Amino acid sequence: MFSLEIIRNPKPLQPLKAAILDFDGTISLIREGWQQVMIPLFIEVLAETPNGKLETTTELEHAVREFVDLLTGKQTIYQCIRLAEEVAKRNGIPQEPLVYKHEYHRRLLQRIHHRLEALKNGNNPTEHLVPGSYHLLQTLRQHGLVVYLASGTDEVFVKEEADLLRVTDYFNGGVYGAQDDHKTFSKAMVIQRIISENNLQGQELIGFGDGYVEIENVHNIGGFAVGVATNESERSGIDDWKRKRLIEAGADLIIPDYSDMEQLESQIFA
Ligand SMILES: [Mg+2]
Repeated sequence: MFSLEIIRNPKPLQPLKAAILDFDGTISLIREGWQQVMIPLFIEVLAETPNGKLETTTELEHAVREFVDLLTGKQTIYQCIRLAEEVAKRNGIPQEPLVYKHEYHRRLLQRIHHRLEALKNGNNPTEHLVPGSYHLLQTLRQHGLVVYLASGTDEVFVKEEADLLRVTDYFNGGVYGAQDDHKTFSKAMVIQRIISENNLQGQELIGFGDGYVEIENVHNIGGFAVGVATNESERSGIDDWKRKRLIEAGADLIIPDYSDMEQLESQIFA
């Protein structure tokens, strides 16, 4: 059941010229369930610190969920930097954030390995896409928008996974992801680049995302922000937790996915 919910501006204030889309959870479901890898790992790390030993698992989980969620949409390294700070706060000796990131990625790959293999073997990508993704991308291009992909996942993986999902060609503005030197990439930087490359006003940009960061960034420059609150494991309906955070971040609309493009199209292009 599709339902589009208007939160702030019902429609963009100006005709749209460019779009920026997040990848994981907004287009791709390949990394579905990454939180179930990151959160237990981070709890494990904190539970080994001197003061963490005195906290219950529930307390640690609450602390971890809070910062993991708030930083979702930024590069993964920021969640790991924060983990290192939390270790120090509990009198532990933190590892380099990159060490945490590599361990997270090693565990995540175990979880998603079979999905990547199936796609490499030519399986239909549909079940690893947010419903209606192709239709959304086609519609944005048909309306003449320059379409950009910007992800907090490492760029090499984003490019590979976008190819496997057969969506790369839609992104005529380019595909951007996290760099080893994390200071050289942010979604806010990509947005600034879009604005200057296309000589845009903020209001001519539309953003689609399931994370706090991209919605807040688009909202802050006066763009039109569509919060995509897909229930990723069901591939249907709304994830209430995402919905709540996306509204806080500044979403104009909340949608469960793109399965009713007709309704969405008339809302954003009327
Ligand atoms: Mg995302």
